[in-house]
Order: sequence, then structure tokens, then C-alpha cells
Amino acid sequence: MAVKAEYLWVDGTQPTAKLRSKTKILADGEQPGIWGFDGSSTNQAPGDKSDCVLRPVFTCPDPLRGGDNIIVLCEVELIDGTPHPTNTRAPLVEVAAKYADQEPIFGIEQEYTFFKDGRPLGFPVGGGYPAPQGGYYCGVGADEVFGREIVEEHMDAVLAAGLHLSGINAEVMPGQWEFQIGPVAAPLVADELWVARWLLYRIAEDHGVSATLDPKPVKGDWNGAGAHTNFSTKAMREGYDAIIAGAEALGKKRQEHVDGYGAGIDQRLTGLHETAPWTEYSYGVSDRGASVRIPWQVEKDGKGYIEDRRPNANVDPYVVTRLLIDTICGDAAGQA
Ligand code: ADP
Ligand code: MN
Ligand code: MN
Ligand code: MN
Repeated sequence: MAVKAEYLWVDGTQPTAKLRSKTKILADGEQPGIWGFDGSSTNQAPGDKSDCVLRPVFTCPDPLRGGDNIIVLCEVELIDGTPHPTNTRAPLVEVAAKYADQEPIFGIEQEYTFFKDGRPLGFPVGGGYPAPQGGYYCGVGADEVFGREIVEEHMDAVLAAGLHLSGINAEVMPGQWEFQIGPVAAPLVADELWVARWLLYRIAEDHGVSATLDPKPVKGDWNGAGAHTNFSTKAMREGYDAIIAGAEALGKKRQEHVDGYGAGIDQRLTGLHETAPWTEYSYGVSDRGASVRIPWQVEKDGKGYIEDRRPNANVDPYVVTRLLIDTICGDAAGQA
């Protein structure tokens, strides 16, 4: 039986890259190999030198097509086999290898917002606003929860694909939701996040809904959408000194991190709506108004992980994981 392999890659759209995909039919027993695409249609090449190369890096069962069909996530390369300038995974792989001895792992909380007919799901059809925030977060009932059937379908698909899902929840704004991938090492956590995003878009598409990663989908008194990134090294999982050292290390590169945490971050990190202002760095135990939170359980246990609350929903997970490893592990190794 022929196998349908859905090849996924991250394109070159600025300021926020998009996922693209196309299907390759594999003959019986054929392995998914390198493939190509028209980079001039994805902001990755000029028309006269349009060929870009897809190199498979992560494969999983395709839960939507079922059977032996697969999803094949790729890195983009130039025809000489070097990483394409838009390929942010290649530099992550280098940094992750350099500090592999510190055993860094991540859990990423992906928030997102469903849109239908130009407004968030649950916002009134005739325009205007629903009741103010307060009851929607982890809510229940048709007056508070919008899109649960899509969320459930997505959860089942992510699990069937074998990804490391750790949970889902309804968020603070109507139509806003979250899923978490992890805790696992990079680049795997980021590969799985990209695949989980694609499954979300694809499933929502069947419901006539678009899932978006806009960091501030509704201006005003409505929560933005983030991608809190939880991080630990072996030393952090064993003792509190490394927790504090990690939180301190992040303070040394505030601007570099904020620059890499997703377009429009100044719109979301205002100091309101459970955020710290992007212009300042802070950390604290249980503090959801700090840049970095040390969960209360971590303080109590004297070990665990820290949560960088700053990354936007539209962050490139290859970038945020690289920055965290480079900064925290580099600092611990005395090289930052
Ligand atoms: P929140 O209270 O911020 O909403 P969540 O439960 O949504 O927290 O997310 C916590 C995340 O932390 C999960 O993705 C989980 O996988 C991750 N996590 C748990 N332990 C660790 C650890 N030791 N290192 C890194 N991430 C971790
Ligand atoms: Mn969460
Ligand atoms: Mn959340
Ligand atoms: Mn969080």
C-alpha cells in the first residue's frame, strides 16, 4: 500500500514564520527522503533560484489520515546542503549538543485563539464584546466555553501522533485555549510543538475555524496569548542554588531574549494581564506578574524548574529553546 507522507516545514514569512505542508506518496517500504519545494512562494528564495531542499528531521504517525500514513517535519536547506538562512533549528541543534551534559529539558505552554468570521470564537455575532474576563479560564458551559470539540479532537490527535502532551485548558479570554508539550529535551520539544501546531490548524480548518497565535488578538482589557517556557537542567532538578542561578542568568540578556520571543511582544508584555513589562526583568516565587516565575512547589521542594513567562504565542520554539540553553547553561559553564 502506498503511504501518504505529509511533509511540514517552517517558511520564511516575516516577522512570523508560517507552517507549510505538502503530500508525498511513498511506495511500499520507501523511507521518507529529502524532497524539494518552490522557495519563491514561501519567502525563501528568488524566482530564478527557487529550489529549496526539505530534509526530514522528525517523523510520527499521521493521526488524521490514520493507517500507515505519516507526518514528516523537515529542516529547510540550500541546494548545497547547508542550512537555509530561515532555518532556526540548525543553530539550536548545535547549542543543544554543546550543553547536552547539563541535560536541559523544556515544557512549553502553547496558548492560542480560535477565530471565526473575523472575531474570536464566543464574541457576539453582531459585534461588540462578551462579558468581561473572569469566568472563562478553565470554565464549563456553553456561555463560557467555545470550541471545546476542536480542542478534544486536537488532544486525541496529538496523543495518537505520540507527542509528549502534558495537558490542555481553557484560557482567560473566550475562544482562547492552551496545550502543553513536554517536559522533553530540545530540539524534540520544539519539533513536537510545530507538529502539534500544524495539527491544530488542520483540525480547526475542518470546523471552519482558524486557530491563531496572535499575541494580542483583542486590544484592551483582554489577556494576550503567550507560550510560557518552563526550563530545567539536571542541576536545577537537584537543587535550589541552580534555580536561582538560572533566574539570575536570564536577567543578563533581557533585550536579546525579548527580541527573540515573538513579534509584537511589546503589545502583550505591558505589565497588565499577568505579564511583566518587556522593558524590565524580574523573577519571583509564585509571581505571575514577574518575567520569570519560580513555582511555589519548586521553592518548597528546593528544586525543580523555572517558568519564563515572556515568550509570545507566536514565538519560534527553536529560538526560545536555543536562547534559554545558551544563556543558562552557558552561564553555569562559566562561558556566558
Ligand atoms: P501553569 O501553572 O504555568 O499554567 P502548566 O501546567 O500549564 O503550568 O505547565 C507547566 C509545564 O511545565 C508543563 O508543560 C510541564 O511539562 C513543564 N515541566 C514540569 N516539570 C518540568 C521540569 N522539571 N523542567 C521543565 N519543564 C517542566
Ligand atoms: Mn499553563
Ligand atoms: Mn496559560
Ligand atoms: Mn504558565
